[in-house]
Amino acid sequence: MVDSTSIEKACRFCPRCGKEAEVEEQGRVPFRCTQCEFANFFGPVAAVGGLVTNEQGELLLVRRAREPEKGKWGLPGGFVERNESIEEALSREVLEETNLCVSEASYLTSFPNLYDYAGAVSPVIDLFYLCQVVDQAVIQLADGELDSFLWVKPTQKHLSEMAFPSNRRAIEKWLSGA
Ligand SMILES: [Zn+2]
Repeated sequence: MVDSTSIEKACRFCPRCGKEAEVEEQGRVPFRCTQCEFANFFGPVAAVGGLVTNEQGELLLVRRAREPEKGKWGLPGGFVERNESIEEALSREVLEETNLCVSEASYLTSFPNLYDYAGAVSPVIDLFYLCQVVDQAVIQLADGELDSFLWVKPTQKHLSEMAFPSNRRAIEKWLSGA
């Protein structure tokens, strides 16, 4: 297993002028280049997660087929792309991962998360939405990304097998209000 390091510690060179950071500047947030004054804030990347429910009030969980957290359960979702709204990202990710078409989405909550990109850990802010879909019967999982799904009233066992703590907390929040 590769040792993970935070993205700010992995960033040794100024992305603007290319000068190597002074030792005491490495790992600082924000990174400030002593040569050209450029500042990099390493702000969190936005990601979305959908709590998709069916007519029976069961929640859709999907199982990850690849690392990180292969074999663990999660909510459909993913990173927000540039020039995309949160709502657009939510609909796109749910469609790409499950073939489900989101008809209504309402904001539930958000939690910070960390994501390991090949050994460099970046901060993420996960935004969770309650989703209704047009037709729950048309599920088709994204090949190679997900390998299984469940419609369930999540139990402690499911919660303990979630890939990301932020997903677990969002489900716990949903359960506490359900
Ligand atoms: Zn610079």
